[in-house]
Amino acid sequence: MSDTLKSESRDYSCPSAPSNGEDAQLLGVVLGTPEKPEVVYVSRDVDASVDEVLGQVDPTILPTRILRFSARCQNGGCAQFDGHGCRLGRDIAKLMAPASDTPPPCNIRKSCRWYAENGPSVCLRCSRVVTTVTASDELMPIAEMVKASDQTSAQPAA
Ligand code: SF4
Repeated sequence: MSDTLKSESRDYSCPSAPSNGEDAQLLGVVLGTPEKPEVVYVSRDVDASVDEVLGQVDPTILPTRILRFSARCQNGGCAQFDGHGCRLGRDIAKLMAPASDTPPPCNIRKSCRWYAENGPSVCLRCSRVVTTVTASDELMPIAEMVKASDQTSAQPAA
């Protein structure tokens, strides 16, 4: 079997997915500062649906600026897939400075493509990853952006 087929032969999770990805789940909440974001990973016990989570986000904010979602990896359907694996996970493991000494607890390690391909070194850097960063980002204060609301419509796709 070729490397490409092997890398596509099981269902991996993408740890930096759009909120409307296949089987999307909340992975974490982005705290910290724009210069030094710090993802706090949600516990396995949180079973809110993505729609319920998005209902708490100001509809003018792209959810992936302040939240991390996991979803089923699209393999060759994703621009980050280079035929052998995920370029993004590999670059994060190689190029980013570690954010911690130990892998953070997260709820997808068994299926995470970044972990499967790079081992714990990518986990040490994962909490610095924000899925969507815009030029005019004003990520803080996060608490003001995530408002208590029952709005569930007009969510921007991310
Ligand atoms: S901490 Fe590791 S296993 Fe968890 S999402 Fe990040 S890279 Fe994947």
